[in-house]
Amino acid sequence: MELEGACAHIRDVPQVRVAERRECEDCVRVGAAWVHLRTCQSCGGTRCCDSSPNQHASGHARAASHPVICSAEPGERWLYCFPDDEGVEY
Ligand SMILES: [Zn+2]
Ligand SMILES: [Zn+2]
Ligand SMILES: [Zn+2]
Repeated sequence: MELEGACAHIRDVPQVRVAERRECEDCVRVGAAWVHLRTCQSCGGTRCCDSSPNQHASGHARAASHPVICSAEPGERWLYCFPDDEGVEY
């Protein structure tokens, strides 16, 4: 994505991957609740945000070394890079 001020990880995202299902795949497995959803731009998996009890999106980003997520919330159009702690709207 050619986005002004974006880090190299975000610029490496060819096109934003949106959520296939609007649910956290890890919370669903264990019957947990989430607050907001984020979609991994490396593998397309959708997981819960850091305001959620289980913080699956950031846990996945660390464990899998997948740096960039997008918001999977309706009407929100932004990307966020974990290693650079930087967000940008698209
Ligand atoms: Zn980055
Ligand atoms: Zn979750
Ligand atoms: Zn991923």
